[in-house]
Amino acid sequence: MARYTDAVCRLCRREGQKLFLKGDRCYTEKCAADRRAYPPGQHGQGRTKTSEYGLQLREKQKTKRYYGILENQFRGYFEMASKRKGKTGENLLAILESRLDNTIYRLGFAMSRAEARQLVLHGHFLVNGRKVNIPSFLVKPGMIISLKEKSRSLDKFKSTIEANAFRQPPKWLDYDANALVAKVVTVPSRDDIDMPVEEQLIVELYSK
Ligand code: SF4
Repeated sequence: MARYTDAVCRLCRREGQKLFLKGDRCYTEKCAADRRAYPPGQHGQGRTKTSEYGLQLREKQKTKRYYGILENQFRGYFEMASKRKGKTGENLLAILESRLDNTIYRLGFAMSRAEARQLVLHGHFLVNGRKVNIPSFLVKPGMIISLKEKSRSLDKFKSTIEANAFRQPPKWLDYDANALVAKVVTVPSRDDIDMPVEEQLIVELYSK
């Protein structure tokens, strides 16, 4: 599976925003986006990009990076969103948010979306009682997501769940922290998505 492998902190600096791609480190004073709040590269501190196209492009890039998705797949999600009822931008965010890897991250089973992707690939999670090891699997209302019984005793999950206990799952997930089981209660709404993004700019970019 194709994925971005360059130093991920550069992506946050490029977007001028914390994208929380590195788990624990993002919450510490080591965060590169906090320490060096200007774009990476030799000319980083001198760059400005304010054209309409530039703004639209940045919103798309930021969103792709936030969810760890490459161009072709992102474009596919846009097409899917444009065929649904309602606002295409909001539909797009709801689709991205519904990916299984994002859902696992939102539930606090992983420190980052990249880690969640790995854990899904390794088959640690069940959807409606059956193993699903496809990070792009889209969860739907009524589905039940759980950590596999055999995985519950792993130190990795114990420590991550404990470290993330402070994080509140979004309203679209009804999570039972004792049973380590969550039910998808609704499609994610715009209010559930905390990333500051102007999704309309992405729609405008792809509509050219
Ligand atoms: Fe981004 Fe996290 Fe790196 Fe900070 S530590 S720059 S939030 S990936």
